[in-house]
Amino acid sequence: MAANILVVEDEPAIQELLAFNVTQCGFRAIQAMDVASATAEINRALPDLILLDWMLPDTPGVELARRLRADQRTRNIPIIMLTARTDERDKVMGLESGADDYITKPFSPRELMARIRAVLRRRMPQMSEDTVRAEGLELSPTTHRVSANGSSLDLGPTEFRLLHFFMTHAERVYSRAQLLDQVWGDHVFVEERTVDVHIRRLRQAMEPSGLDRLVQTVRGSGYRFSSN
Ligand code: CA
Repeated sequence: MAANILVVEDEPAIQELLAFNVTQCGFRAIQAMDVASATAEINRALPDLILLDWMLPDTPGVELARRLRADQRTRNIPIIMLTARTDERDKVMGLESGADDYITKPFSPRELMARIRAVLRRRMPQMSEDTVRAEGLELSPTTHRVSANGSSLDLGPTEFRLLHFFMTHAERVYSRAQLLDQVWGDHVFVEERTVDVHIRRLRQAMEPSGLDRLVQTVRGSGYRFSSN
């Protein structure tokens, strides 16, 4: 699954360069020229990572970073700040505002991509290509294969993403809205009961192995992947 990267940069040449590199690396670039349009994009669908310029025409990038960190829905989106500033004090301020990493212009595209990958690996384990295992389940993002107690499971793409998310976020309860944000990337246009439909399909596929018990309904709250 390609990560969606929101690129917030007002200088057209740099915006294009960033979007080009992001796309070349197999990610999807969503472009915004200022904080207002970035906010509109984030309200529509949560990006997997934000490349955020410091100097923007309407509001400073650090201010957006602060707002995102203060909001329950957006607090975990990884942010990499981009800036021409090299001042140590600004760097500290950028990181204090909640950015995960910091890169100064001019940057080498290679370094930037390496940092994007590192931040995604750290912050969004479901974006990693690593094989994940839990109980008798084994899921490989690269081959798109899942097995339960050694026999392969036939999952649709949504059930696959849902299971991958659950396996990398075990023991935590997620509401339907949170699952829509995290797995579908869209909490506005997809109805919450869609989640229930795919949970049901996922459980049906897991049933023969008895591992459907791992996907638990938490009454009044949502769902949890748990071995207990
Ligand atoms: Ca700028």
